[in-house]
Amino acid sequence: MKVLAILYDGGEAARQESRLLGTTENGLGIGPWLESLGHEFVVSSSKEGANSDFQKHIVDAEVLITTPFHPGYLTRDLVEKAKNLRLCITAGVGSDHIDLNAAVDHRIQVLEVSGSNVVSVAEHVVMSILLLVRNFVPAHEMIERGDWQVSDIARNAFDLEGKVVGTIGAGRIGYRVLQRLLPFNCKELIYYDYAPLPEAASKAVNTRKVDDLKEFVSQCDVVTVNCPLHEGTRGLINAELLKSFKKGAWLVNTARGAICDKDAVAAAVKSGQLNGYAGDVWNVQPAPKDHIWRTVKNPLNGGNGMVPHYSGTTLDAQARYANGTKSILEHYFNNTEQEAQNIIIGLGKYETKAYGQR
Ligand code: NAD
Repeated sequence: MKVLAILYDGGEAARQESRLLGTTENGLGIGPWLESLGHEFVVSSSKEGANSDFQKHIVDAEVLITTPFHPGYLTRDLVEKAKNLRLCITAGVGSDHIDLNAAVDHRIQVLEVSGSNVVSVAEHVVMSILLLVRNFVPAHEMIERGDWQVSDIARNAFDLEGKVVGTIGAGRIGYRVLQRLLPFNCKELIYYDYAPLPEAASKAVNTRKVDDLKEFVSQCDVVTVNCPLHEGTRGLINAELLKSFKKGAWLVNTARGAICDKDAVAAAVKSGQLNGYAGDVWNVQPAPKDHIWRTVKNPLNGGNGMVPHYSGTTLDAQARYANGTKSILEHYFNNTEQEAQNIIIGLGKYETKAYGQR
């Protein structure tokens, strides 16, 4: 059968570092294995437009492997052209680049390697919160420039201790963020999620659920976004909601770029309504060179902690999602039961409750 993988090019780095498994050069480390089983394995980064390898090969591929870091956008149109497609595997976590409703309609299964990079992302969230609150980036830039003016940095640097931090989504990543924040003695850790945490889990991190989103954001000094992108979260953080944020709050989004309205967030940072925005996810990836999130600054010339999409693709994470991808393929080839936690779309239906209430 044909297995198509859309991955990012690793270039020189991937040739030097074989643990960069999620690249086209290293093909998740599964190429020789797939070929030994007699399968055709097509790996490419070319994903946009009718002449891309993605669109050329999707018409007869049976398995599609994609990664959120360089998303091959499987639209309903493409699903309809993909006559042989039976299984989509997300090498990582987050399958919003697949039209999941179209996958349901066409009985295409969608699986993720659940949990594979949740610690990687949670660590990145904690780092991003700290770098915003402590005004780290402008301080480092000052040092590189050869300048030294402590007051210019200190005038907008704070401690995390005593602040209220809230997570939108308290699933695997959101919960791990709360766990990691516990020793910082925040004033409160709160969450917004339609799925309540089990009582013991909630007690263990001393968190409180807030049911109304406006009410929730109005209580937070720091908001971190940790829910999937779906119909109910696209554009969730928009101009209207930003008005309910505390003036000067910080926002961290490592979930999906399109959960935040690009221009509304940029305007809020520029005006100082948000003191900063950080994260690694963009509404389109790769982000265009002139994307406003690359350069937007708060009125004190800081407040930007944006990086390319890499929080969940550390070398440790790559080992886990490469192994997980192989294991999903093994189950598929051998017709054995997939691990339940990995199934986003089963045959003709959503198996997860995390992609919206339906
Ligand atoms: P998860 O399924 O364990 O948890 C998601 C949580 O979000 C669930 O508790 C769900 O109920 C909640 N949720 C869904 N819709 C919501 C809404 N409208 N409002 C509030 N909460 C809502 O998933 P996870 O492993 O924690 O991952 C979460 C997301 O993080 C992924 O879907 C992906 O988009 C993103 N992610 C990013 C990276 C990265 O590298 N930046 C890596 C992994 C995952």
